[in-house]
Amino acid sequence: MSSMVQLRNISMNYHSKEGEVAAVSQVDFCVQEGEFISIVGPSGCGKSTLLSIIAGLLPPSSGDVLIGGEVAVKNTSQIGYMFQKDHLFGWRNILNNVLLGLEIKHKKNAHTVAYAHILLEKYGLGDFKKHRPHELSGGMRQRAALIRTLATSPKILLLDEPFSALDYQTRLTVSDEIGAILSAERVTAILVTHDIAEAIALSDRVVVLSNRPATVKNIHTIDICKKEGSRRKSPKFAGYFDKIWEELRQ
Ligand code: ADP
Ligand code: MG
Repeated sequence: MSSMVQLRNISMNYHSKEGEVAAVSQVDFCVQEGEFISIVGPSGCGKSTLLSIIAGLLPPSSGDVLIGGEVAVKNTSQIGYMFQKDHLFGWRNILNNVLLGLEIKHKKNAHTVAYAHILLEKYGLGDFKKHRPHELSGGMRQRAALIRTLATSPKILLLDEPFSALDYQTRLTVSDEIGAILSAERVTAILVTHDIAEAIALSDRVVVLSNRPATVKNIHTIDICKKEGSRRKSPKFAGYFDKIWEELRQ
């Protein structure tokens, strides 16, 4: 199987007035097509830096990123994002917020607009197309933000702590919902999180990073069926949690 994303020996040093900060050191791993990967690591270890490098927004100090076998140079049309904030515009209704993603990427046409409507219907926002963002719950807004990105049919979705602004209860539901949407739409996804449970619940594999500069400590394949409801209830869940927790503590 060909890799969708290939990180080859990525290192990143920031240069500032105070001197040099080594943020990422010799990171090497692949993401297969349709795979859901999480990257966990301590705060400030270099997770967002790594995501920006994958996105082609930040050139690494050394190493390279291949997207679909080709060197990633501003491969932005193939990449979608989901951030902590939903970045929905208050003066636009939900439909027009979703269509904005298509407008920005110059992909708005009858076909893509129809797809946006399908996604809104399919994922429970069909009755809220004319509503403004403030009329929706935090979880619904995150779903709308996800649909805005999915409507552009990105090959890869990058998620940077997308649930951390939500309260704990909402966060559990929304992360499960979003996991189900991504697996139904077969999107290749890379999620950055500091929440070990979230990573295990959503991912095919979990990449554990060290303290700064981030190096790959371990990669866990999560062997829990995704179809039988929430993975959090699986007896295997605690085993993965303890192992990753221990690796992060060391
Ligand atoms: P994380 O997402 O894991 O919390 P980041 O990738 O944001 O970590 O940051 C990793 C390290 O690099 C931190 O020490 C941060 O202060 C530093 N850093 C991030 N961006 C810059 C920058 N533009 N210039 C200098 N240092 C930076
Ligand atoms: Mg970050």
